[in-house]
Amino acid sequence: MISNIFKLRTASTISNLLARNSTFYARSLSTFEKHRSVFDTLGIEKTNNKGVFDGEWKGSGDIVASYNPVNNEVIGEVITGTTNDLNVALDKVAEAQKIWREIPVPKRGHVLLTMRNALVEHLEPLGKLVALEMGKILPEGIGEVQEYIDILEYALGLSRMLQGSIIPSERPGHAMLETWNPLGTVGIISAFNFPVAVYGWNCAIALVTGNGTLWKPAPTTPLVSIAVTRIIEKALKQHDLPTSLCSLVTGDAQVGQALVADKRSHVVSFTGSTHVGRQVGKVVQERFGRSILELGGNNALIVTDECDLDLAARAVLFAAVGTAGQRCTTTRRLIVHESVYDPLIEKLKKAYQQVKVGDPLEEGVLCGPLHTKEAVHVYTNTLNKLKEEGGEIIVGGRVLDHGSLKSGNFVEPTMTRVRPDMKIVQNESFVPILHTMTYKTLEEAIYFNNNVAQGLSSSIFTNNPSTIFKWIGPSGSDCGIINVNIPTNGAEIGGAFGGEKETGGGRESGSDSWKQYCRRGTCTINYSGALPLAQGINFG
Ligand code: NAD
Repeated sequence: MISNIFKLRTASTISNLLARNSTFYARSLSTFEKHRSVFDTLGIEKTNNKGVFDGEWKGSGDIVASYNPVNNEVIGEVITGTTNDLNVALDKVAEAQKIWREIPVPKRGHVLLTMRNALVEHLEPLGKLVALEMGKILPEGIGEVQEYIDILEYALGLSRMLQGSIIPSERPGHAMLETWNPLGTVGIISAFNFPVAVYGWNCAIALVTGNGTLWKPAPTTPLVSIAVTRIIEKALKQHDLPTSLCSLVTGDAQVGQALVADKRSHVVSFTGSTHVGRQVGKVVQERFGRSILELGGNNALIVTDECDLDLAARAVLFAAVGTAGQRCTTTRRLIVHESVYDPLIEKLKKAYQQVKVGDPLEEGVLCGPLHTKEAVHVYTNTLNKLKEEGGEIIVGGRVLDHGSLKSGNFVEPTMTRVRPDMKIVQNESFVPILHTMTYKTLEEAIYFNNNVAQGLSSSIFTNNPSTIFKWIGPSGSDCGIINVNIPTNGAEIGGAFGGEKETGGGRESGSDSWKQYCRRGTCTINYSGALPLAQGINFG
């Protein structure tokens, strides 16, 4: 095993390793042994997992280790992909897509149903693998796999409902209609925090609309992506379809960059930070490709003086502490009416103190570790900057470096008190830090909500219908997700998911998001035998 690890080649991989935990060389692969049945069920080995699938399992890139954020032990190793692997895989997806696009849409639905059933069969072990590799608690790991199952059911429904319009033609003896055909290949680049669901949303909708997919997952969650691809591979095989239809190339940013720049990736669905998404958007635009950008959020939850405070407190706890603050929709800013600030904060302080931080597989644990040691540095840096600006920590604030938490990436869920004009509230820190502030009028609260660069999710707690309609109206929240009396996180797949401004403007999942995976054809058919021109033009 040690000799394999020393095959690690690139500087980025080595720095990644050092940043994680330099003492892991001396440890055994105990995480693997402890959860052997999970790995066996999912076809994951300790070493030599091939990180590329294009109809065959292969990999010609670096060998990288995947870590358990609970103790920074190596879980397993993966031979990742390179840009050469990507080059071959993109051709293989295109070949498979030529066959797939000719399959009637309801028949595509049958294949999605097989995929759905395969995922149901693997729900528990795959959810466990998510918990082990990403670090979220088991119910959330399982919930993430459930999201993929849900979107496959949704896509199965769509397979009987993908409709275009018939449009009245202004010319006699003419028919005008819209067709929605696949674009080709959807390149899916995903973030570490939803290692299953983000791929699932894109995969299900891309497939039902007749596309193939090429997945480049986050470099730190390769095992989950291999396990998912194996499940999908088996489902495609059952229907005698070319399995390269859903290809996988694991690897680092270089593979991502190559995928973004490649014209064979007709759609690039990118989920990640605003910083990277900005570059991705430019490159795809330059080649007139289509991008779906799902970038960073800086989500606020407003608590008015006309709501059930207990309900609000429960929602805030889940929204700010769930997934250890590592959801794009995590509540990062709590904007509270000045008259209810003290009682709400008292409730939250009590609740925060009861949150059990620990191993995400342990029952009763609500907050697992951060995904990497780098994220722990983000946590401490954010709190240092907060103090420099005059902010105050009101709960939490410590890295947990004692007992069994010592070797993991554990931090205390934290609440701060800030002024709304502080710089610290402008940025997304992807850790469990909630900045609290007060407001006087509804207009002021909405202004605070909107006065950041990002526009993903938002929520208000109120029982006043007039407030609700202002909030969802033209002078209300400027986000893509606008909730009332529920947390900012935990979206259902039936709605379109995504955000405005620096969140990128993309929409995935439900509603009419499927249209983004299609080319729209406006077809005018002349059955009159004459040639009347539009706008009554007489051309000779
Ligand atoms: P990241 O931007 O660091 O990485 C995301 C993916 O992009 C990874 O697969 C990475 O390898 C790849 N990548 C890196 N550089 C690239 C480049 N130049 N070209 C192409 N690909 C490149 O993000 P992360 O740290 O994995 O995830 C956290 C971020 O993702 C947060 O900002 C979070 O808000 C955001 N996120 C957004 C949504 C959403 O739906 N809006 C969902 C999940 C996460």
